[in-house]
Amino acid sequence: MITIALTKGRILSETLPLLAAAGIVPDSDITKSRKLIFETNREDIRLVVLRGSDVPTYVKRGSADLGIAGKDMLMETGGDNLYELLDLNIARCRLMTAAVIGREPIQGKTRVATKFTEVARRYYASQKRQVELVKLYGAMEVAPLLDLADEIVDIVDTGNTLIANGLEP
Ligand code: AMP
Repeated sequence: MITIALTKGRILSETLPLLAAAGIVPDSDITKSRKLIFETNREDIRLVVLRGSDVPTYVKRGSADLGIAGKDMLMETGGDNLYELLDLNIARCRLMTAAVIGREPIQGKTRVATKFTEVARRYYASQKRQVELVKLYGAMEVAPLLDLADEIVDIVDTGNTLIANGLEP
């Protein structure tokens, strides 16, 4: 039995057509069901739907044989000891820094709110910028608006979320 760990959400909706093209079809509608483990048309393959941040853990510990996760998760929660077989080129996006539109850059220590503290730590160190990282779990865009942070590090796709909150990359 081969267990493939999938990431729920945006990545999942782009993964299912790829699995179908490879001849792997779940036995029920993954996007509608509340089940987390799915048998497939293939007797030797089952699917498990997880949070992206948990996919590397399941694969590293051998509970899943293969995983599909965002590069952000591999960068943040450690791609060590994992073999990246293939870039599927799905759910493409960018990790960016953003601040309130038109605001002058901060002199000295910058407060940065992000879910991606590891990625941010490495990035700002490479820029030789001193920062104070504020760990958040969602809605990073709010942080500069309520003066919790000067900048954020977040995923940007169309850029609409940043614009809607008065931020710019
Ligand atoms: P957008 O408004 O299109 O720039 O989308 C930005 C928001 O959608 C971000 O706050 C992310 O949380 C989320 N997002 C966009 N693309 C992805 C992706 N490929 N993977 C995970 N989250 C994403």
